[in-house]
Amino acid sequence: MTIGPQSQIPGVYHRRIGDIHVVALSDGVLLRDHHMMIGVSAGEAAVLLARAFRSAFVLSVNAFLIFNKGRVALMETGSGHYLGPTAGHLLTNLAAAGVAPSAVDTILLTHMHPDHSAGLTDMSTGAAHYPNAELVVHANEPRHWFDDAAMARGTEREKKLMFQQAREQAAPYRDRTRTFVQGDVWPGVTAIPSYGHTPGHSSFLIDSCGERLLIWGDTVHMPEVQVPRPEVSMVVDVDPVAAAASRQGLFEMAASERMLVCGMHMHFPGFGHIGRDGAQFRFVPEAWRLAI
Ligand SMILES: [Zn+2]
Repeated sequence: MTIGPQSQIPGVYHRRIGDIHVVALSDGVLLRDHHMMIGVSAGEAAVLLARAFRSAFVLSVNAFLIFNKGRVALMETGSGHYLGPTAGHLLTNLAAAGVAPSAVDTILLTHMHPDHSAGLTDMSTGAAHYPNAELVVHANEPRHWFDDAAMARGTEREKKLMFQQAREQAAPYRDRTRTFVQGDVWPGVTAIPSYGHTPGHSSFLIDSCGERLLIWGDTVHMPEVQVPRPEVSMVVDVDPVAAAASRQGLFEMAASERMLVCGMHMHFPGFGHIGRDGAQFRFVPEAWRLAI
């Protein structure tokens, strides 16, 4: 009897940028609908989805390992046990990539939402998943999510998933947290402020030997909608107008400089380019590469 595949193979993909190895890791997917977006009707969203030959809004949840000069950074930690069984698979894929959590020396976060920071700590024991890692994040992130007055203004869901999550997940890293505003954050990695989604939301530019990769965090959640319509923001954006301005600016930079980009919610592994036809942007996924 022939037995077919029982589950997907590990979500691991290697992409070299100059001397730096970047490894895309999947944390899984999140299933959402048009209610997540501001500034697009259900009908318009359905048309854009159908145009992309997709039947439902599925967000990849991605993280990236960065290897440079004998060091290992992990950009984002996935969602742990906060967002249901379709996500929270980062540790499995990290193991599939052959990396022990203890080998990670730095955790870089674009921001502190649950699909990014909720894999920092094992909540059943309170122990850090990454015992040797320094936590590196924009100064505005703990400033906002640890602010009791800001938490008091949130909905119950925001209090639990955003504010409480950020506090409990970052707690074991309290004495080994480094904050930045912009500029160099790790060898070959530069932070570019792209505020709006959260007060400290940052993109990271990887630059080595004349090759560059822009990892734009949550600049895009719904590629089918937000690439052609960059003015469409998310209900979870702390400042939707600023988020749209950041998105427009990064699209223009990526298009004019023909820059390789990827993101935490671009369809795994997420690498590609932003093209422009007149005023209209489009995303062109990069073809699978044999060489690394
Ligand atoms: Zn996210």
